Amino acid sequence: MIELHDVSKTYVLKGRGGGIARTVPALKKIDFHVPAGRIHGVIGLSGAGKSTLIRCVNLLERPTTGTVTVDGQELTGLSRAALNQARHRIGMIFQHFNLLTNRTVFANVALPLELMGVKRAEIQERVTPLLELVGLADKASQYPAQLSGGQKQRVAIARALASRPKVLLCDEATSALDPQTTASILALLRDINRKLGLTILLITHEMEVVKSICHRVSLISDGELVEEAEVGDFFTAP
Ligand code: ADP
Ligand code: ADP
Repeated sequence: MIELHDVSKTYVLKGRGGGIARTVPALKKIDFHVPAGRIHGVIGLSGAGKSTLIRCVNLLERPTTGTVTVDGQELTGLSRAALNQARHRIGMIFQHFNLLTNRTVFANVALPLELMGVKRAEIQERVTPLLELVGLADKASQYPAQLSGGQKQRVAIARALASRPKVLLCDEATSALDPQTTASILALLRDINRKLGLTILLITHEMEVVKSICHRVSLISDGELVEEAEVGDFFTAP
């Protein structure tokens, strides 16, 4: 479902005169495959390249070399218009939720559908079940500022699911939450994986997150995937 082949990403930092001051090799020749229906975690220290890796999957960050294929479609070769279409199949959630503060819960979840040109009546039909799925049916008219962190992440999850994606990318999705709220968000993600068959790729610096929901885990260090195993094997001492 998600395939990275020979993906490298080097950030180029410009100096004052516009010349190249420094290059940062953030990802080095990554080969990586997540089969459909799996929950795969990538764990590593701060600066290891986790965020760059997950942002390369939907081309928020464009790889310097290599190919990215999602759901059988190679994204790295697509035109901008085709890439925008393909991105409907890839939902994403973030550490700080990234909700629009001047829109209600309902309108935040409706936004991607509005942008896709979905008709008003169909938006109503699609948003309500999503709010039910994430347990926020009674919060439709509230604004993000009125919600707890866990509730905000639930809104973000509903929004990410609105375009009926095949893949959900989770960028440190529970890092801003307390342990109890983290557990409830992870339970929701597990539920979504089971009920909707969604493939989930998550990055985290927390072992507990990996242990609690991932099927498989990769360890990233200094831009390289240095280990990969089923979660049960990864945490068993040799
Ligand atoms: P992680 O998510 O594991 O903390 P990142 O992918 O954010 O790691 O960063 C990997 C490396 O790339 C780090 O050295 C970081 O400083 C660098 N980096 C990340 N984003 C940028 C950027 N936009 N410009 C320059 N360097 C960056
Ligand atoms: P605006 O129309 O000024 O952008 P909003 O951002 O609040 O206002 O709403 C955007 C869309 O979402 C509108 O079509 C609005 O009718 C709809 N909407 C907002 N809140 C709800 C709700 N609780 N239930 C149903 N539809 C809602």
